[in-house]
Amino acid sequence: MNRADELTNIRNLLQKRRRSILTATEGTHRELAALKDQERDPEYEEQAQAELADYTLSTLMESQRREVMLIDAALRRMEMGAFGECVDCGGDISIERLEALPFAIRCEEDATSHELEMRGGHHQSMPSL
Ligand SMILES: [Zn+2]
Repeated sequence: MNRADELTNIRNLLQKRRRSILTATEGTHRELAALKDQERDPEYEEQAQAELADYTLSTLMESQRREVMLIDAALRRMEMGAFGECVDCGGDISIERLEALPFAIRCEEDATSHELEMRGGHHQSMPSL
């Protein structure tokens, strides 16, 4: 398969992933709304449990929203023909890397040096893009 076909494959995967996240988000949203509508039990323990569930669902929605944002950014780069291009050196990011990390914006080499630059400063919880 040539690179253009591989990229089309990745785009299809991203679009499929985006749809399934949005469906999942809808489900989470409904659960959250149901939780909020629920009559709150006056007992403390129940209340604490509801708050925990509320917190867990909100966190889940937050990470779902975040992933959709990353996918949208990747799809936008595809439209501009910039997907799979390293933002630092302009070279092609390997298909293997893109398959593993479709949101990567740097080639392996530049991602490594970028990570080294970032180290020591602020803590990064996300893997380097
Ligand atoms: Zn590069």
